[in-house]
Amino acid sequence: MVIVMKPGATEEQIQHIVNRLHEFGLREHISKGEERTLIGAIGDERVLRSIPLEAMPGVEKVMAVLAPYKLASREFQSENTVIKVNGVEIGGNKIVVMAGPCAVESEEQITIISAAVREAGALILRGGAFKPRTGPYSFQGLEDEGLKLLAFAREKTGLLVITEVMSPQQVDLVAQYADILQIGARNMQNFMLLKAVGQTRKPVMLKRGMSATIEEFLLAAEYILSQGNHNVMLCERGIRTFETYTRNTLDINAVPVLKQLSHLPVIVDPSHGTGRRELVAPVSKAAVAAGADGLIIEVHHDPENSMTGDGAQSLLPGQFSELMGELQKLAEAVGRSI
Ligand code: PEP
Ligand code: MN
Repeated sequence: MVIVMKPGATEEQIQHIVNRLHEFGLREHISKGEERTLIGAIGDERVLRSIPLEAMPGVEKVMAVLAPYKLASREFQSENTVIKVNGVEIGGNKIVVMAGPCAVESEEQITIISAAVREAGALILRGGAFKPRTGPYSFQGLEDEGLKLLAFAREKTGLLVITEVMSPQQVDLVAQYADILQIGARNMQNFMLLKAVGQTRKPVMLKRGMSATIEEFLLAAEYILSQGNHNVMLCERGIRTFETYTRNTLDINAVPVLKQLSHLPVIVDPSHGTGRRELVAPVSKAAVAAGADGLIIEVHHDPENSMTGDGAQSLLPGQFSELMGELQKLAEAVGRSI
């Protein structure tokens, strides 16, 4: 249930509603828009049927939210969420590009790649320190050392850092180093992990599970939001279909669908979405045209020797720089900047 306050409702009136919710064992989620404040009632809302919320001072109306993902829904919050993270805004007019290697491999590698993506205009450095590999004998990432190298690269370049966290036990450690926590596709429904990152106030990029429906995806985001962390962005990274030519099938439909159903920023990963370097540029452009708020792109200076096997989908620094130039024109054409 969402309680829509009148424009100009006072803090006391808002607090009064919140106190009533607490009396009934519910929690509140407050969203302050330019004109109105919305109060989401979280918990078993049936208890509210007996109290005349609509008659309380400052209340304009009370709305039932039909979507099962309440806090993530546009019904609940009509304005786009804009996540502010250390000087970068995600979900606003500017399209934010995150770029870097699949995994951090060495000081030399992260130094070369971070400098190149920064030069080309990326604002955020990606790179896995903990890698969710399909097989246990594959390179699992440099772990703690990888986190330190990411912090070192941030220091040198001024880029923000996004990196994956794979378990609830790792959240505190990874949050010490990352500006944005990444939840990988394989963990989209790791509910304990979702709750754990929901307990932090770090921005979280949630990747769509490879066989997740859009509703399941939004319900996974709801787990994080329901813990009080409102800084959630959604990432479409391709789903499994019968098609084998590409690594995954990037669901371009998901971009406008998620923008319609939710106020959360939408990021597209054309690297894992296609698995093929030559498709990364056209699919990135399609994502921007479809309304994506950001892109996350794999870049490697020596993809042939990449330690994760994602070399085939990594752009060379020069290709990434060229793509950034093209995206600039496209962003302007859709009324945005990059
Ligand atoms: C990644 O971005 O490093 C990654 C492992 O992607 P995904 O979780 O989408 O497979
Ligand atoms: Mn990868």
